[in-house]
Amino acid sequence: MSSVKVAVRVRPFNAREKGRNAVSIIAMEGKTTSIYRPKAVATDQPKTFSFDYSYWSQTGPEDPNFANQEQVYNDIGKEMLEHAFEGYNVCIFAYGQTGSGKSYTMMGMGTREEEGIIPRTCLEMFERMDGNEDSNLTYSVEVSYMEIYCERVKDLLNPKSKGNLRVREHPVLGPYVESLAKLAVTTFGNIKSLMDEGNKARTVASTNMNAVSSRSHAVFTIILTQKKRDTLTELISEKVSKISLVDLAGSERAKDTGAEGKRLQEGAKINQSLTTLGKVIHSLAEQASSAAKKKKKGEKSFVPYRDSVLTWLLRENLGGNSRTCMLAALSPADINYEETLSTLRTPFQDTTLLYLGIIRTPFQDTTSLYLRIIRILRCNNIIPLTLLCVCRYADRAK
Ligand code: ADP
Ligand code: MG
Repeated sequence: MSSVKVAVRVRPFNAREKGRNAVSIIAMEGKTTSIYRPKAVATDQPKTFSFDYSYWSQTGPEDPNFANQEQVYNDIGKEMLEHAFEGYNVCIFAYGQTGSGKSYTMMGMGTREEEGIIPRTCLEMFERMDGNEDSNLTYSVEVSYMEIYCERVKDLLNPKSKGNLRVREHPVLGPYVESLAKLAVTTFGNIKSLMDEGNKARTVASTNMNAVSSRSHAVFTIILTQKKRDTLTELISEKVSKISLVDLAGSERAKDTGAEGKRLQEGAKINQSLTTLGKVIHSLAEQASSAAKKKKKGEKSFVPYRDSVLTWLLRENLGGNSRTCMLAALSPADINYEETLSTLRTPFQDTTLLYLGIIRTPFQDTTSLYLRIIRILRCNNIIPLTLLCVCRYADRAK
């Protein structure tokens, strides 16, 4: 994995939380997010985490710290789109419990200001292509939109297709979904209407967490092809990038949702695929640290892509030539403390592993080891408290 960015975003209270007189337990400062234990005594310290971005969206535009949809897109979507034009596969995952704001951040609401990362990415992509003045450069775009529900794949752009689609493996191109509609689009209007059609077709079911909650992963994929003609040789080179924008199913544990029977089974399968996603990111991070330690080829750790349909299909977007962003959505309310804490820990643990792996390399003396640690931590914006722990860890490892 070349690069993983991690962002968190806290939404405003919802009606249910307001009705239960919920208290806010989230605070953000710069890139850090702190969570306070509900009914904490004055001496309790909050748990603090550092990310690439911490978005404060609990208040409104009148608050100078408020992060709106545009800001989230400008930081994350724009960068990922830039990587796609450079030829990388990119992937943005929205993670978090049901009702935490994943779909709002990815898709958004009807009005222009409230559009999320997906429509904004599509709009800017077409604006860039329309502005192209190089007659030797041409673009083409294809779109697919699928839903993975209980490890089964449905085509959201072809709702008439009955049943589930088969996941197969091409000997060269890798895993793919048989008969999934891949539609060519030439304008933003085209892509927008496909998006709206797909959103209407999403499977929704009720749980106690949210009146209408999405229990499936929605994967919106844009395949951007750039063809460039070399005027000297008349040869055409082609760059193909896959942009996968994934709205994951709610990460809540089954016991909190009051689920039973079919709903409980559903929860177990959803948690399994989220756990696999975590394991895949973890294994890729380990691989990256092995590469840093210059392990021999063939000693690569095993990446369990095949353990879930989601990771299997996104193999190309996670490993290899790719750029990934994990965006964790949070509720501000004390009543969701456990879930919010577990959401905050998920992306944090995975990236930490990468850094701890790197510093296990033998060092000549303590000073160069500490300098190396400080450099890694500075690059990754890790808080001073973590620095202390890592130094202690390094002392023990010596
Ligand atoms: P999820 O997809 O995680 O289940 P949603 O995105 O559907 O959650 O959000 C739940 C509700 O909260 C929706 O009504 C949505 O409009 C609202 N919401 C979520 N995030 C924000 C935000 N940043 N600002 C305003 N409203 C939000
Ligand atoms: Mg949703």
